[in-house]
Amino acid sequence: MNTNEKTIEKFDKHVAHSYGRYPLAMKKGSGRRCVDENGKVYIDLGSGIGTNSLGYCDEKWADAVCEQVRTLQHNSNYYYTEVQAEFAEKLCDTAGYSSVFFGNSGAEANECAIKVARKYSFDKYGKGRHNIITLVNSFHGRTMATLSATGQDVFHNYFFPFLEGFINVEANNIDDLKAKLDDTVCAVMIEYVQGEGGVNALSKEFVDAVYELCAPKDILVIADEVQTGVGRTGKFLAGDNYGKKADITTLAKGIAGGLPMGACLMNEKCSGVLTPSTHGSTFGGNPIACAGGIAVLERVTSEGFLDEVNKKAEFIKTKLENCSEVVSVSGLGLMIGIQLKSKKAADAAREALDRGLLVLTAKDKVRLLPPLTIDYDELRDGLDILIGILEE
Ligand SMILES: *Cc1c(COP(=O)(O)O)cnc(C)c1O
Repeated sequence: MNTNEKTIEKFDKHVAHSYGRYPLAMKKGSGRRCVDENGKVYIDLGSGIGTNSLGYCDEKWADAVCEQVRTLQHNSNYYYTEVQAEFAEKLCDTAGYSSVFFGNSGAEANECAIKVARKYSFDKYGKGRHNIITLVNSFHGRTMATLSATGQDVFHNYFFPFLEGFINVEANNIDDLKAKLDDTVCAVMIEYVQGEGGVNALSKEFVDAVYELCAPKDILVIADEVQTGVGRTGKFLAGDNYGKKADITTLAKGIAGGLPMGACLMNEKCSGVLTPSTHGSTFGGNPIACAGGIAVLERVTSEGFLDEVNKKAEFIKTKLENCSEVVSVSGLGLMIGIQLKSKKAADAAREALDRGLLVLTAKDKVRLLPPLTIDYDELRDGLDILIGILEE
């Protein structure tokens, strides 16, 4: 039995089987490559589903995190910490928001957004205006509320009853949106690029309509940027690509370079909604995660960084569009969906593992979320492997 297999046997015996896992155990990583327990090296074009935004064990990030571990690893949110204050200030300034609530995951960030939207409406208009419109094919998380918000029937099983108060509208269907935006609605929640739903960017017309229709009715716009945020789409927020700023934006995945961190950003209008004891999280804003977050922010906002993200995105797109098996390339920036002609995305992803490449899938597409720091040699090597598989 090789070491991968020993780990897998122990793991499967004791860890819940809630994932269909690939049969390999990761040991370590450096830069944009990781190594499994048998010593096999992989180029990573998935970055832990977009979490390892600076790649594996980036030196400055690791130094910042380790220093914080040895200084103050955690304290209750009943006290203040400088590192949380600094991260909050940098994040709000960069993203253009007034305040932030910190949790530990995307689902928690969205839970917070849902609570803020409902309480904003209740405080101002009283009961009965609690519905939140979410989009068909969206994905907002795995907790009961965020599952209920998720606009995919496959997720609405087993765990009945789901939370009331979510109404689904078809993405890019302005008439459907108009018909459902009645006076029971307090918010519309969107992903500018639906990630798990298949890497589909919303049309500019639809996004414009969301904002135009919501504003006069004081209906909040919530942008779930858990996957699209923090530089992933070539702008700090994906909303910047559309020239739009939601009332509430949620972030997680890449925000702290691979540490658990979720953020619910609120504009001025929403910033007074959360009052003492209306929301909380024991670990939210954990100092170590905040230190990691500051390191990520410093890099992503450094001169020329996002231009490079956009250039790499173009490089990938051009290379893929020259592949005969590729029907189309979707997404924005380094969030890429690849529609295949005849091959199955899941088969391609499995074959890629054999050849030392990590890629993701989303619905029937191959999905790439490379570390934002990936270089052209690594991209070339990774894409050559992928294209080799596709063209076989
Ligand atoms: C991944 C994801 C979530 C859930 O994040 P978790 O950290 O897994 O809770 C929510 N929304 C979007 C858009 C995501 O991509």
